[in-house]
Amino acid sequence: MSIHIEQISKRFGQFQALNQINLQLNTGELTALLGPSGSGKTTLLRIIAGLEQADSGLIRFNQQDISQQHVSERGVGFVFQHYALFKHMTVFENVAYGLTVKPKKLRPSKADIAKKVHNLLELVQLGWTADRYPAQLSGGQRQRIALARALAVEPKMLLLDEPFGALDAKVRAELRRWLRRLHDEIHVTSVFVTHDQEEALEVADRIVVMNQGQIEQHGTPEQVYDHPANPFVYEFLGNVN
Ligand code: ADP
Repeated sequence: MSIHIEQISKRFGQFQALNQINLQLNTGELTALLGPSGSGKTTLLRIIAGLEQADSGLIRFNQQDISQQHVSERGVGFVFQHYALFKHMTVFENVAYGLTVKPKKLRPSKADIAKKVHNLLELVQLGWTADRYPAQLSGGQRQRIALARALAVEPKMLLLDEPFGALDAKVRAELRRWLRRLHDEIHVTSVFVTHDQEEALEVADRIVVMNQGQIEQHGTPEQVYDHPANPFVYEFLGNVN
């Protein structure tokens, strides 16, 4: 699904969090929203998701204006920084959750749900955890379960907010490769928020560099790497070279 963002603005009191954002995201691509803390990345993600209303502007999914559509109608899967897994449910129940709460007419049969959950757990290579509880898993494993859970409802779009931010460097590096591989398999249009330049350069098909509520650069990792328009990226590249 393609996403068109037109002239989106958002204020919190006197503070202009987003200032006339225009952005087009291509079907099946993995886009990183990269920028320093407070640059408006999460606010933009939440507006795309329907968790937050913009003050003005339009969002189109496949050309259709969805600005008035409720979050539940937008076909979005979420993964957040702090694992939002249900502690009192097993891994199986967590991944199945989005399917079991569907209206009766749309709900798959129990057997179909079981098959789907097992396939998803195989996809994230955690089939053996089905009967465990989140507390029995490592942080990285929990985020992989969170990914499986987000995919269970076959989202048209996957939105990830600092998905690996709470993990240590080694696990984060592993999960980046994971996200990339998974994305290559399922090709769902995905957007992830990060303030980690290396993560964006390594994982994304396209990078949107944000600063003070505006987009400063939008390009492939190669373009952003070769011509960093933003000091946030430029200094980082200076540091690693
Ligand atoms: P980022 O994700 O890039 O760190 P955010 O989108 O979370 O940035 O926030 C952008 C700015 O908007 C920040 O200065 C933040 O304090 C402010 N902000 C975000 N959400 C709210 C809110 N609900 N109420 C007031 N200010 C907010």
